[in-house]
This record gives sequence, structure tokens and C-alpha cells, in this order.
Amino acid sequence: MTAGQGCIQCGVCCERWGWNQKGVVDDLIPWIAHNRKDILQHVRIRYSDGRKASGTGVSGADLDHITRIYYWQDHKGKAMRKCPFFSRSDDGKAWCGIHAVKPRVCREFTPWNWKNLEYYGSCPACREKAP
Ligand code: SF4
Ligand code: SF4
Repeated sequence: MTAGQGCIQCGVCCERWGWNQKGVVDDLIPWIAHNRKDILQHVRIRYSDGRKASGTGVSGADLDHITRIYYWQDHKGKAMRKCPFFSRSDDGKAWCGIHAVKPRVCREFTPWNWKNLEYYGSCPACREKAP
């Protein structure tokens, strides 16, 4: 998040957009290196030969053959309607369970810098910039 912006950790972005996102290969590198099967089990990968498989089987040798990365899937390989790493504490505050290694799509979620008005009505940090 950009310094000076008023993100209040409401969690709306994780709840509304934290699923059905596309990943990038760089996201996978630390997860493979640190054997983060807890994350990779929720990743679906399409390879250049057309095969689709769970992220649990991916290795560094596969990285050049990946054509698409999907977040997030359940244990049966079905797309989830909610990010499995999202939670709320009793006081309602939103938490990311993989904050230190979350994917780029989450790290770079700064809708106040974008022209896309889709987010302005839902993200409190954007509202003061709304037209
Ligand atoms: S919707 Fe906006 S204010 Fe809420 S957590 Fe996401 S970026 Fe922060
Ligand atoms: S990985 Fe973390 S930041 Fe990304 S949608 Fe899930 S809870 Fe939100």
C-alpha cells in the first residue's frame, strides 16, 4: 500500500476480490523454496501442454512451462468463493494469514492509484478521491 493512504484494513478487497485472481510466476518462487504446501494446495496451474494441476506438485523446473496461475482452489480443485487466508479477529479487523508472502496481486492492490471507478464505492480508502 502507498504511504499516506488511509487503508483501514476493512477487508472488503479480500472478501470481494480475494478469489478468482490470476497469479504470476514470481509468486510461486518463495512458496516452492520454503515448501509452502499450505499455500500451494490452494493454487491451480495451467501448463503449456494444456495440463492443469494443483500447485502442490510444482517445482522450480516447471516455472518456464506455466501459462496461467489461478487463485484460490479448494482441496477438490474447485475455485473457492473466498480467500482461504482471510480472517477477522473478534474486533472485526481483517487479517491476511500469508501477509509476508502474499501474491503480487494482493501486494499491489492500490485502487486509489487507478482510474477504475469500480473500487471507489467499496474501498473506504478511495472514497475521498471519488468524483
Ligand atoms: S477495501 Fe480499501 S480500505 Fe479496505 S482493506 Fe482494502 S484497500 Fe484497505
Ligand atoms: S492472500 Fe491475503 S491479501 Fe490476498 S486476498 Fe487473501 S487475505 Fe487478502
